Amino acid sequence: MHVLVLGAGLSGVTTAWYLAHAGFDVSVVDRRDAAGLETSYANGGQISVSHPEPWANPSAPWTALRWLGRDDAPLRLKLRADPAQWRWLLGFLGECLPHRTRRNTEAIAALAVRSAAALRALREETGIAYDHLERGILHLFFEPQAYRRACEKLPLLTAHGITARACGPAECVEVEPALAAVRERLAGALYAPDDESGDAFRFTQALAERAKAKGVTFHFNTSISRFVHHGGLVTGIEVADEVGRIGLLKADAYVLCLGSYGTQLAARLGERLPIYPVKGYSVTVPVRDAAAAPSVSITDESRRIVCSRLGGRLRVAGTAELDGFDTTPHPHRCQPLLDWLEARFPGAAETGEAQFWAGLRPATPSNVPLIGKSRMVNLWYNTGHGTLGWTLACGSASALADLMSGRPPPVHEFPFLRGALGH
Ligand SMILES: Cc1cc2nc3c(=O)[nH]c(=O)nc-3n(C[C@H](O)[C@H](O)[C@H](O)COP(=O)(O)OP(=O)(O)OC[C@H]3O[C@@H](n4cnc5c(N)ncnc54)[C@H](O)[C@@H]3O)c2cc1C
Repeated sequence: MHVLVLGAGLSGVTTAWYLAHAGFDVSVVDRRDAAGLETSYANGGQISVSHPEPWANPSAPWTALRWLGRDDAPLRLKLRADPAQWRWLLGFLGECLPHRTRRNTEAIAALAVRSAAALRALREETGIAYDHLERGILHLFFEPQAYRRACEKLPLLTAHGITARACGPAECVEVEPALAAVRERLAGALYAPDDESGDAFRFTQALAERAKAKGVTFHFNTSISRFVHHGGLVTGIEVADEVGRIGLLKADAYVLCLGSYGTQLAARLGERLPIYPVKGYSVTVPVRDAAAAPSVSITDESRRIVCSRLGGRLRVAGTAELDGFDTTPHPHRCQPLLDWLEARFPGAAETGEAQFWAGLRPATPSNVPLIGKSRMVNLWYNTGHGTLGWTLACGSASALADLMSGRPPPVHEFPFLRGALGH
């Protein structure tokens, strides 16, 4: 069976890989001239199994109110006359109810655990290099109350098979000596030793090369403009090449992995995907002093900022803006990330050589991705991974390949695989 994967980001390339592995004949279409050039390009680098709780949780509305109007606030909301934005926000508020948060956390945790195992197996099988480190993630807290609340959630992580432990300030510095400069200010941390970090873009490119070697065809510089369909069946996709020549690509089945851009195409089929772009920023800087730069990946929970060591570079990422499809990396939004780095790890990096970047997280209100079949007979989804697209990539793609091969993963482990699509 010939499957056309739409999009060559983390979701599309991993989908192509696992489908090819399962014996499908696979092609991939993307408007860019290589894989991984949009949201998967410069993310925070974390494989964060230890953070399954979605942004939509009971404390989120109050936290958002507290941040309102602050220039360095991790969250920024620019209200627009855009029904999709309002629908998404209402959906987000609904997902903040305690029972919804519990259900979403369980779904994400199950998928994240599967995903981490799949990533390890893929690494062993392919030997691909992407500046990955297996040194864990330290979730830092600078307020005692927030630290206490986080410690109360440890049993929940353990129940999902996720290893994490509470560390006082001294143990934090033992785990990551580069934290010595902020030791006095730390309330404590949760340390997840099995978590990893790595460069998602290098990974996506390397896996695309392996997929090509396995027989997957890539159509780059090819923009998808619409689905052609008849009687509930997708019969092709209309595409344009770089000089605007229109063509039609056909397959037996299609998988939509278009990040934040899938919603408009799906809407023309009558499918309303609950995905809205949530803009985030990152800065990438060369390491100046290796001893002062962390190699354990860091999440500063007080500022919602993450930091990962990627070979000779440090990547700092964060912020969430709801402001449509603008991807400009505004310097005034990137600067707080650099200031954070200098404050937490003084002298670690060549901040004068920082590269600024912004990308659009394809976010569902619940942060639970859409994995499964659409209402069309031969159209599938693997999209909407929001804040965790790198963490969940391999698990989602392998689960989709199982579904398409008629081997659905156990429903009690992955109830959302059917439920999230609303049918
Ligand atoms: C600042 C930031 C930090 C992050 N940090 C982390 C992290 O630490 N850990 C983590 O797990 N996740 C993180 N994420 C999330 C993660 O990066 C995303 O969830 C993931 O990259 C989404 O991958 P994707 O394949 O769905 O989308 P994309 O990478 O955007 O891929 C979609 C592809 O579709 C193509 N496309 C779109 N429209 C068309 C069209 N009409 N025709 C043809 N091609 C088209 C695009 O060119 C693109 O290649 C972060 C995100 C951001 C923004």
